[in-house]
Amino acid sequence: MPDNKVYLLDGGTLVLDGFHIWWNKGPGGEVRFPVYSVLVETPKGRFLVDTGFDYDHVQRALAFEKPQQTQQQTIPGALKLLGLEPKDIDVVFNSHFHFDHVGGNKFFPHAKKICHKQELPQAADCEVFEALGYSDLGFSTEVAEARGATDQLTAGQTAANTKYDLIEGDVELAPGVKLIYTPGHTIGHYSLLVEFDNRRPLLLTLDAAYTKKSYDHDINAGFHIDPVAGVRSMRRLKQIEADLDAEVLFSHDPESFANYRTGVNFYG
Ligand SMILES: [Zn+2]
Repeated sequence: MPDNKVYLLDGGTLVLDGFHIWWNKGPGGEVRFPVYSVLVETPKGRFLVDTGFDYDHVQRALAFEKPQQTQQQTIPGALKLLGLEPKDIDVVFNSHFHFDHVGGNKFFPHAKKICHKQELPQAADCEVFEALGYSDLGFSTEVAEARGATDQLTAGQTAANTKYDLIEGDVELAPGVKLIYTPGHTIGHYSLLVEFDNRRPLLLTLDAAYTKKSYDHDINAGFHIDPVAGVRSMRRLKQIEADLDAEVLFSHDPESFANYRTGVNFYG
């Protein structure tokens, strides 16, 4: 088994109503929850999975989510804590293109970029109810142009340096680093499985399950495209957890996140 390491990059916090976090379940009321990205260091290179939210974008487009983000919680700031710079990242993989997973993509024009083949066309022509989720379009000149939002692009971004390699189904990014196709939250959503030399595998649900409660009770988030696919994806993750005795990490769970390793404290 390869010598992999996983670092969680703390990206700050946002607020949603409980009925949005736990769709049709609640309880309602404001919940402040964490956002993080995942750096996987492997002998084959450094893979960054998701890039957090852009503070200014959230203030402009979704101020009701009350973003909080220190300098150290931006992507460059979180990498700096590890002694790294954006140029040290070889591959950026987006689990999906919601604004709180793509906000830092603009820092990686040099990196290879990968996503599911249906995420780009969906972000470019999304359903009305998905528009707030797919609201930060600075990750792709093609998508920003399609949505009439070229003002979200950064100087120097081109079609060539915002191009994505497209994948489908389960894919092994590197030895022991596996993308698990878990649609439902979005059309092309992925979860992440990482295996190690000396510890249990990590299964990162990403937005297939925001919280442990979501996962334990098959509760989708309010943001979704196909709730039936969503619950089936959660059941598939539970089967993988059982088969591999994996440790499961959730994407937006304030209670669980308090016990996760962040910053320089890695899994591996
Ligand atoms: Zn999402």
